Amino acid sequence: MEDNAEKTRCMIIGSGPAGYTAAIYAARADLKPVMYQGLQPGGQLTTTSEIDNFPGYPSGTTGTEMMEDLKKQAERFGTDVRWGLVTEVNFEERPFKIKTDDGKVILAETVIIATGATARWLGLESERRYQGFGVSACATCDGFFFRGLNVAIVGGGDTAAEEATYLAKLCKKVYMVHRRGELRASKAMQHKVMNTANIEMVWNSKPVEVVGDNKVVTGLMVEDVTTGQSRRLDVDGVFVAIGHTPNTEVFKGQLNLDEAAYIVTIPGTTKTSIDGVFAAGDVQDHHYRQAVTAAGTGCMAAIEAERFLSSN
Ligand code: NDP
Repeated sequence: MEDNAEKTRCMIIGSGPAGYTAAIYAARADLKPVMYQGLQPGGQLTTTSEIDNFPGYPSGTTGTEMMEDLKKQAERFGTDVRWGLVTEVNFEERPFKIKTDDGKVILAETVIIATGATARWLGLESERRYQGFGVSACATCDGFFFRGLNVAIVGGGDTAAEEATYLAKLCKKVYMVHRRGELRASKAMQHKVMNTANIEMVWNSKPVEVVGDNKVVTGLMVEDVTTGQSRRLDVDGVFVAIGHTPNTEVFKGQLNLDEAAYIVTIPGTTKTSIDGVFAAGDVQDHHYRQAVTAAGTGCMAAIEAERFLSSN
C-alpha cells in the first residue's frame, strides 16, 4: 500500500465549514494540509438556498458562495484542495494510511475528519424537485423564510419536536406529520409540542406528495396509514426532520463511534479514540448541526492537530 505513498503532516477529509475552517487554521500553522473534498464538495450547505445566520454576512449569502469563499481562503494559505474520496483508512499506527479513489496512498501524521452528516429524506420525487423551493431539512436555517405562513414538519423525534416549536414562533400554523400515534421525542419536548397552540398534530400519517405550482410548494398530501385516506395540508413549506446519517462508513472499526454511528470525541475537544485523529463538525455533533458550530470545531481540530505534532 505504501509503494506510491505521499506524505502529509495533516490530512483533512471533507469540505464543509468544519473542513475548510480546519484547513485555514492548519495552513496558517504551516502544516501544509491536504484536503479531500468528498462526495459533496462544500457539504450540506450547498443544498440550501440562502444563509442568513452565519455571522459576518449582513446581507446574507448562499451556501455555494460561502463554500467558494471558504475554499479560496483555505487555498490562499496553501491548502492542497483535491476533488476525490477517501475509500479506506488505517489508523492502527502512525503515520496513518489513507487510500483515495484516485489510487493514491497518503501517509498522514494527523487526520481531521469533517465528513459531516447527510439529512435523511422521504424519497419522494416531488420532495427532491422542490428542495430549496419550499422543502428543507433545516428549520433553523430556512424557517425565517416562512414567517407568517403555514408549514408542515415531518418526523416524531427530538429534532422534529424542537424544530416544530421553533417554527411555531415564526409561522402562523405548523402541522406536525408523524407516521405513528405517539412521538419518539423526549417527554419534555412532547409537552412543549402539545402546549403550543399553533402546532397541529397529524398522527399516523405519511407524506405521499409535495404539491407545488412548478415554482414553489403550495401543499403537502398526506395519507392516514390506518384508514388509507388522503388529505391535503395547505402549506408553503415542508420541513423534513426524520434524522441524519453521519458519514462514517469508512471509519467503522477504526474509531469509537456511538450507537448512531457518530464519531465519539472527548467532551470539550475534537480528540477521537485515536491520538492524532480529530473529528469536527456534524460527523461528531448530532445536537447543534450549524455551520458556525462546525466552523468552530474545525478551528479546534486544527489547533489540536498542531499541538499534537509539536508535542510528538
Ligand atoms: P430520530 O431518529 O430520533 O427520529 C426520527 C423520527 O423520524 C422518528 O420519529 C421516526 O419515526 C421518523 N422517521 C424516520 N424515518 C421516517 C420516514 N421514512 N418517514 C417518516 N418518518 C420517519 O432523529 P432525530 O434527528 O430527531 O434525533 C437524533 C438524535 O439526536 C436522537 O438521539 C435525539 O434524542 C437527539 N436530539 C436531541 C435533542 C435534544 O436533546 N435537545 C435535539 C435533537 C436531537 P418513528 O418514531 O416511527 O421511528
